[in-house]
Amino acid sequence: MGFMMTRDVYPLTFDPIYKDYVWGGERIRTVLGRDLPSGIYAESWEITDRREGTSIVNNGSQAGRSLRELAETLGARLVGTQARPGPFPLLVKIIDAKQPLSVQVHPSSESAALVGGEPKTEMWVALSGMVAGRVFAGLTEGVGRAAFETAIHEGALERVLNAIELEARDAVFVPGGQVHAIDAGCFLLEIQQNSDTTYRIYDWGRVGPGGKPRELHVDQALKVINWSDRSAQKIPRHDIRQAGGYTSWGICSCPDFTVERWILQEPLRCENDGRSFRILFVDSGTVTVESPGVSVELKPGTSCLLPAALREVSLTPSVGPPAGGRPHGLLGDVSDVSAGTAPDAAPGTAADASPGTAPDVSPAGTRGGTSTGAEMIAITL
Ligand SMILES: [Zn+2]
Repeated sequence: MGFMMTRDVYPLTFDPIYKDYVWGGERIRTVLGRDLPSGIYAESWEITDRREGTSIVNNGSQAGRSLRELAETLGARLVGTQARPGPFPLLVKIIDAKQPLSVQVHPSSESAALVGGEPKTEMWVALSGMVAGRVFAGLTEGVGRAAFETAIHEGALERVLNAIELEARDAVFVPGGQVHAIDAGCFLLEIQQNSDTTYRIYDWGRVGPGGKPRELHVDQALKVINWSDRSAQKIPRHDIRQAGGYTSWGICSCPDFTVERWILQEPLRCENDGRSFRILFVDSGTVTVESPGVSVELKPGTSCLLPAALREVSLTPSVGPPAGGRPHGLLGDVSDVSAGTAPDAAPGTAADASPGTAPDVSPAGTRGGTSTGAEMIAITL
């Protein structure tokens, strides 16, 4: 008798969970081309294991199961050997800010014990489809607790916050204890620890649903703010690697997660040593992710989770323009992507990248001597 090999680890995709917070816009529907009724889509939770929203698998043999169930039943085979036991450790979401989000702070691991909350480090990566935006992170020079409290009372908090102008692909790291806010215009991927201790300090004089101001938590916030943190700035690209058809650079490496941008012009074999899962978010172009018996096509603005026990997948790019945005300047390369071409139907690339093509024969993404590539944001522990 034979025994059935159950394919329980493969590239997992999930149904997004939408949030219609008052400050949200419509770009998740319009720019990312999602088939949704019109309305406000402030956030799309891509990978989440929380009570307020739990990801449900929508492909393969695990379809219908929640990320929570997978974390419990697969354990280290899902999250990797270096993850702590418990809920899935990260939350990954898309944020579309038509209006500014509240000014807030989360505890650091040191201050969380003081206030009885959970620590939360987060970071933002501006999507390729973002034109321009601004965030606030940290305090301006010389501002301490007294000046900060005065600014709260005068309703002039913007004066004491460190503003950072963002363009597509910029990234900002926000450790616990750092005051921050996302301003209007931002269209971001947010990567954060799975935690929801948020102290709202200031809400721009806005009212929430029901016409009342949303609750503020100034006292707790003042206890967890790191008054000496002036480090906030855009994270420079680092660890740039370039090898035939593949370019990557580090976006962020901290104890809670590692984030990189990958640009694929040719198929790539992606290996995993089992220490961590990997989340792949496609920022422009289309990428076909294949493991034995399973093939997933990721369009711009979509993601998948590769369980830690899945030792190898192949990634085949199909190049198109970024969703609604400008092509990346690939280390000085001139891009020849023409605006208006459907991301999955760029002439000369779609056929090359169809599932089933041998990974080593497809020159996807190279046209007329200049090249661009499908862009991914890759997240591990
Ligand atoms: Zn936050």
